[in-house]
Parts: sequence; structure tokens; C-alpha cells
Amino acid sequence: MTLSVYETKPAMASGYQQAVDEFMAKIIAKNPGEKEFHQAVKEVAETLIPFIEENPKYKTAKILERIAEPERVILFRVPWLDDKGEIQINKGYRIEMNSAIGPYKGGLRFHPTVNLGILKFLAFEQVFKNSLTTLPMGGGKGGSDFDPKGKSDNEVMRFCQSFMTELARHIGPDTDVPAGDIGVGGREIGYMFGQYKRLRNEFTGVLTGKGLDWGGSLIRPEATGYGQVYFAKEMLKMKGLDFKGKICLVSGSGNVAQYATQKATQLGGKVVTLSDSEGYIHDPSGITEEKLAYVMHLKNVKRGRIKEYCDKYPEAKFFADKRPWEVKCDIALPSATQNEIDGHDAEMLIANGCFLVSEGANMPSTPEAIEVYLKHKIMYGPGKAANAGGVATSGLEMSQNSMRLSWSREEVDERLHTIMINIHKNCVKFGTEPDGFINYVKGANIGGFVKVAEAMLAQGLV
Ligand code: NDP
Repeated sequence: MTLSVYETKPAMASGYQQAVDEFMAKIIAKNPGEKEFHQAVKEVAETLIPFIEENPKYKTAKILERIAEPERVILFRVPWLDDKGEIQINKGYRIEMNSAIGPYKGGLRFHPTVNLGILKFLAFEQVFKNSLTTLPMGGGKGGSDFDPKGKSDNEVMRFCQSFMTELARHIGPDTDVPAGDIGVGGREIGYMFGQYKRLRNEFTGVLTGKGLDWGGSLIRPEATGYGQVYFAKEMLKMKGLDFKGKICLVSGSGNVAQYATQKATQLGGKVVTLSDSEGYIHDPSGITEEKLAYVMHLKNVKRGRIKEYCDKYPEAKFFADKRPWEVKCDIALPSATQNEIDGHDAEMLIANGCFLVSEGANMPSTPEAIEVYLKHKIMYGPGKAANAGGVATSGLEMSQNSMRLSWSREEVDERLHTIMINIHKNCVKFGTEPDGFINYVKGANIGGFVKVAEAMLAQGLV
């Protein structure tokens, strides 16, 4: 049996474990089989229930129970024709989780593993994350089990058009504003935006992550990875440290991983790994700006595999079917997908000297891994705080669209940086333990909860 994060804090556990167990039993009964959703709710419940018990107004109004139930779940068929003229059918989803503080906001994920439980976990996390950004955005998430890998541009376009033909009736700039996530980058956003515009005859900020010439924001592509590193920088600052000379592990090689690598390198860190679903590369000499430019071309244009890096740079080695956490490092920046660091990986990281984890991916650490971080009291920035820079900059894109103007690169980056500093401050405010240890999990959960809960109280039982 594995211990939960909550059980690692015996003083709290004695009083509240029963309330957490009862709450989770209801969640599991109501949402059978949705294991990632259970995992995400449990992590939040373990830190929030003690807080709610101390603030009975939230308990009486059943705020947490309501936050854990989506306001609306939309499920639809996505039929499309492949290049051979054969009919293909995928599932389409949009989870409209919570609109207490603004229109639903959150990405679309296209990946064969997508299912209802995964999207509900992502939508649930998004509610807290969006609140932490301080911007007026509710939480949502969506996507499809469509796999863009190995598809031609025309196939991706036909799929995106069919997907948007249904989704268009449910979204809008003041209702629900999707963005990208795994498998959804600039290309997919472009095709979906084009179809929405055609159907509605409206040029509005209905999606974020748009191209610069048609309503996009500078720094949006960079924002999640940059924000993740800015958050790590704030954590380091608390200990009088910085990125200079630190060995960093990055997982993934997509949007978040690329810009986390860039920013960590710019701040003086040395990133030595990248990965994809086939394995990881280890380049002990460091992934420089020039090597990163190669990765960006390989992944974003050629749509190749990360192992090809070793053909170009023979000083690097490829490890098939493995994840980078066995490499010695100071800082880990997980940026691929959920549950990519388990308890064993976490032990290995710490045994090898890792003292800081800042999550670019959503829920990349299993509950067992989080337990290890907290037991060893390393600096751990959970995704809902550390990767909030992406959605925050989407919020800035929405503001620019509403005002019909564009801010400069420096202006957006400065705002992003300030938002990450403020998210960090909020985590410190709500997460500092009596012994001075900063429990960022608790800080992010409570910090994100309060604003949404107060809005829900004010708006009555809706
Ligand atoms: P991309 O699609 O650009 O890249 C995803 C990367 O992760 C790829 O290298 C991919 O490898 C790898 N990956 C995906 N699924 C798996 C898997 N099951 N096992 C191993 N590797 C996998 O996505 P993003 O960079 O946008 O997203 C990465 C993470 O960051 C996700 O958790 C996402 O939810 C989160 N995130 C993203 C934001 C954004 O703004 N884009 C905002 C906040 C969080 P392969 O190519 O082989 O599939």
C-alpha cells in the first residue's frame, strides 16, 4: 500500500483523514474508472479539507463538492476522411468545469490516450491554476483521441475542421476560450480558428495560441516553459540560489520542454536531457541555443523523433524506452505528460542530488513521488502553480484581442514574469509550514481555491 501525501503529515492526518476518505469515496463512486481524475481531486482534497474545516462557510455551501463536478461535459463524434478516402471516427470532448471567475479557459489535447478521466483531471486542475494567475478565467479542458503523429497536414486540417464544426456551437470569446496542449500547436489552432470564423462569420478571440498576424500574442509559445523556469527562479531565490551552473533535466521535447530549455540555459543552467515517448537523450555537454534550434526544427517542422539528435550530435546518447530521471542533476523540469515521475524515480532524483522540481507538465509526479519530495523537503513546484504562465499569457492574449492591440515582446514577458512572481508569493503565503518549510502543494491549492470559492458564495447556488 502506498501512503498518500496527506498521510505523510501525521499531525494533520489524525484529524482529517476520515473526512478526506469519505469525500473521496463519493468522488470515486460518482466518477467510476476515472483514475487520473481521482488522483487530482485527492491531492487537492488532502490539503483543502483541513482548510475548509477551519472555514465552515465553504463547508456548508459544499464548495469543494461543487468544484469537483463539471458544470457541463460535452461529448461528440468527430468524423473525417483520411488521405485514402477512408472514413475515420474519433471522440471529441469539452469539459466546462467552472465559470465562477470568468469564461471557461483551458487547452485542447489531441493524443490517443485521451479519455474523459484525463480531461476531467486537467479541467479540475485548470480551475485552481487559472485562479492563481489572478486573471478572470474559469476552468475548462477538451480534446480528442485523435493522434496527429504520422498524419499529413491535410488530414490534420480535415480533422480540425470536423472537430470545430461541433465545438463551435459551445464556445465563444465570452463563454469558453480553448487553447493548445499536447498535440495541439500553432498548426492545429490555425485550422480550428479558420473553421470557427467561417461558421460564425466572426473574427474574435475565441481561441488563444493564434499566429501573430491573426490575433496571437508575442511570448505565448514561450510562456509555459519560461513561466516554469521563472517559478523555479523564485524558489531558488528563497534559498539565495540561482540557475548558474545548475545541471537541469528536462523531459519531453514539445512546446513546454523547448522553451523551458531555452530559459534555463539563458539563466545560466545546463540542460542535459530531452525526451519523447520513445526514450530520452543525454547530452553531457549541454543543449546549447544552437542545438535547441535543431531540436525545434526536428520537432516542429520535420516532426521527427528525439533520438535523431544523436545522429547530429554524437556526443549525446539515446536511451530507448527510458525516462531521464536516472541522470545526476540539481534541478528537474518535467515537461512531457502526467505521471512521468513515480516514487522510485523521485528517490533516484534525490539520491543523485536533485533539490528542486518545477513542473511544466500537468501532474507529472505521482502521489508517491510527491510524498518523496515532501519527505525530503526539497523545493517542489506543482504544475498548477509552476506551469500557469501558459494560461496566464493566454489571458493576456484575450486582453489584447478585446482591446484590438498588440503588446511588445518585452511587455508581455514582463507581465508574465510578474504573474509568476505573484503566484510564487501566493504559494508562500498559504503554504509556509510552522517550521518554515514551504509546501507549495498546499500553497497552490489553497491560494487557487479561495478566489473561486468566494465567487461561488457570492453567486449563490448555480
Ligand atoms: P507537445 O505536444 O508540444 O509535447 C509533448 C511532449 O511530451 C512530446 O515530446 C511527447 O512525445 C511527450 N509525450 C506526450 N505524451 C507522452 C507519453 N504518454 N509518454 C511519454 N512522452 C509523452 O505538448 P506540450 O509541450 O504543449 O505539453 C507538455 C505538457 O505540458 C502536458 O502535460 C501539458 O498538459 C502541459 N502544459 C502545456 C501547456 C501549453 O501551453 N502548451 C500549458 C500548461 C501545461 P511524443 O512526441 O513522442 O508524443
